[in-house]
Amino acid sequence: MTELKIYLDKDIDKELIKSKKIAVIGFGSQGYGQSMNLKDSGCDVVLGLRQGGASDKKAKNYGFKTMTIEDAVKWADIIQVLIPDEVQQEVYEKQIKPYMHSGQYLMFAHGFNIHFKKIVPAEDINVIMVAPKGPGHTVRSQYTEGKGVPCLVAVYQNPSADGKEVALSYASAIGAGRAGIIETTFREETETDLFGEQTVICGGVSALMKAGFEVLTEAGYSPYMAYFEVLHEMKLIIDLVNQGGLADMRYSISNTAEYGDMTRGPKVIGEASKNAMREILKDIQSGKFADEFTKEMQTGHKYFDKLREENRNHPIEKVGEEIRSSFVWGRKENIINREKN
Ligand code: NAD
Ligand code: MG
Ligand code: MG
Repeated sequence: MTELKIYLDKDIDKELIKSKKIAVIGFGSQGYGQSMNLKDSGCDVVLGLRQGGASDKKAKNYGFKTMTIEDAVKWADIIQVLIPDEVQQEVYEKQIKPYMHSGQYLMFAHGFNIHFKKIVPAEDINVIMVAPKGPGHTVRSQYTEGKGVPCLVAVYQNPSADGKEVALSYASAIGAGRAGIIETTFREETETDLFGEQTVICGGVSALMKAGFEVLTEAGYSPYMAYFEVLHEMKLIIDLVNQGGLADMRYSISNTAEYGDMTRGPKVIGEASKNAMREILKDIQSGKFADEFTKEMQTGHKYFDKLREENRNHPIEKVGEEIRSSFVWGRKENIINREKN
């Protein structure tokens, strides 16, 4: 294995970011998480948002100053682009690029548009990345608990020669220096991020849970039982894996579960699944996935909406809603509160 440098707060100039004016564009998942943490870390942060829109109201509710995207871009030293990947190209062309000046830092939380050349900034612009490896709401919840979500940083264009230092200082301000920051490239971040979310952490896991649920209910077992066995318990198990790897999980589960795990797991995810993953990786590397997704979103996203609707109506979701509504701890302190963040 190549040696890996992990940056922590002690390795980072935490003051550097406080001397910069930061415009965060968007107040969605990452926009909310990052800007809240930047503010609490003492940074000068303004939100660039559609004035009067839903995000504008949410951000003002948390005490943020907001501006139009155009004004925020003119004002800022650093522009962190936290709007959905599929709208970044158009917003960049119309509302960011015309208002930029030499020496600014254009920042992303995912390399998609830069790596696949949907956005091509001028040579005198610094292009850097701070990509949290976790959902935006969790970037916030971990920070308030004194922890942090690990981050990747990368430098694509570096005319000011301090892109890496600025990225590290920003990452530290959102809490990542408490967990660990790793340097990578736009290409590596983009391709591995897409691969991970498609095959394992989002796509793989949701397909695995749905398949398990379907097999149990088809065989006549109660959907409530199936929900607990293949979905609810996932988090409890994953918390152990997250803390101490597969070993900690296996330390805690029964010998029965551990034997079943090691003998049956590879039958579910074996060579056929790995071959499917290899195909998926090829489509990511060639840009085929990026083009397909961009085209779908730019031509009315009908197929995307249809898939969303089908997934929303899956029995595992209906049963889950019912079960979760009776948990005694209620919903007051949920990490996601759609009205507010
Ligand atoms: P999101 O979907 O939550 O962003 C919503 C925000 O974008 C809202 O403020 C909305 O008003 C604004 N917005 C949407 N369309 C707009 C438009 N046309 N013009 C102006 N504003 C518009 O986005 P997100 O999931 O936080 O993702 C932001 C970036 O962070 C992406 O590059 C994504 O890949 C990356 N990222 C996200 C996560 C995550 O947890 N969601 C994790 C790592 C990296
Ligand atoms: Mg990711
Ligand atoms: Mg992603």
